[in-house]
Amino acid sequence: MYKDFLIVGFGLSGLSVARHLELSNNSFDIISDNSQRSSRIAGGIINPVAVKRMKPAWQVEKYLPFAESFYQALDKQFSSDIYLNKSLNVFIHNTEQENNWYEALDKPRLKPFISSQVYNNDNQNLSADKIGKIKAASVNLAHLFQNTKLHYQKQWKGETFQHKDLKIDENYVSYQKETYKHIIFCEGFGVSKNPFFKDLGIYGNKGDYLIIESKALQLQEFYKAKYFLIPLGNDLYKFGATYQRQPLIHQPSAEAKSQMMEALDKMIKTPYKIVDQVCGIRPTTKDRRPVVGTHPKHKNIHILNGFGSRGVMLSPKLGQTLVEHILKKKTIDPEISIQRFHAQI
Ligand SMILES: Cc1cc2nc3c(=O)[nH]c(=O)nc-3n(C[C@H](O)[C@H](O)[C@H](O)COP(=O)(O)OP(=O)(O)OC[C@H]3O[C@@H](n4cnc5c(N)ncnc54)[C@H](O)[C@@H]3O)c2cc1C
Repeated sequence: MYKDFLIVGFGLSGLSVARHLELSNNSFDIISDNSQRSSRIAGGIINPVAVKRMKPAWQVEKYLPFAESFYQALDKQFSSDIYLNKSLNVFIHNTEQENNWYEALDKPRLKPFISSQVYNNDNQNLSADKIGKIKAASVNLAHLFQNTKLHYQKQWKGETFQHKDLKIDENYVSYQKETYKHIIFCEGFGVSKNPFFKDLGIYGNKGDYLIIESKALQLQEFYKAKYFLIPLGNDLYKFGATYQRQPLIHQPSAEAKSQMMEALDKMIKTPYKIVDQVCGIRPTTKDRRPVVGTHPKHKNIHILNGFGSRGVMLSPKLGQTLVEHILKKKTIDPEISIQRFHAQI
């Protein structure tokens, strides 16, 4: 008997696909290694606003409510703190930024997410004059992956998928001793080694975070000036993340560290200690949209990828989109469909 699906990669994309396959009673296995770390080290922020341009995030009205109920259901199932509504406090440095904030209140799509006024900063540990508040949310990725990995342990193989061992037939695929109706690749930037999809044009963008300790800061919410300051509990905070096109290696960068320290020194007034630096590679596309769909030449090979940013908000719904495309032949929005890259594959 064949199993229905093999999922390669268990970051946010693989997790979403697994969840929707489970909910639709399909059998599947998961093969994942730790070669990519984007989902493990990400900030876990769901931010509905593109702050620099004061615009709503892409299709936020569609993706945010879906993500919220997706994570809340997991939260309930595992009795774990996975999803939390949390304010994002944006530093307002000058009158122009303050005016931009008030102008943004005239945009009906932004209004539900941003505070109706800019507040004076009353926290002496922060160097902001004023602060605008965004209704954001936090996904605790450590809790999310601990719980779901355990939940899927019977289907789980912690190893590197060897693409050369995949045999493709008209109606099934075989991998080593197993046979599946479909295979779904959710490899993040690991796709660059995948012979079926490496020419899609998914390129890497490395991000570093500092992990700092500060007993004096005592922050519960998110803060953003140049970078995000994210409370982790126990006086620890994540600060970042940087954007770097090269080198795409999983090694903390000294240049990123000094950029972040300079920005942090401008943002907070309390002493802090750097306790760690972590990094990951964002799987990014040129048009900044995810890639969802089926290989043009192999109808049983599929992909969910291209979450260079906002993967926390977008992946829950797009896992469902891909599963319904495969099982129910539902069409995929051309803006995210793999079809826009067919000429390259
Ligand atoms: C520094 C940083 C901060 C970020 N912060 C945020 C944030 O706050 N909010 C937000 O929404 N997004 C954020 N992102 C983006 C977010 O992390 C990504 O959108 C998301 O993690 C991508 O998930 P993915 O599952 O597609 O890829 P990945 O997380 O890279 O997962 C792919 C998985 O597949 C495995 N894999 C790859 N190849 C193979 C193979 N051959 N065999 C077996 N396994 C394989 C990898 O090891 C990995 O486990 C951030 C990214 C970075 C780098």
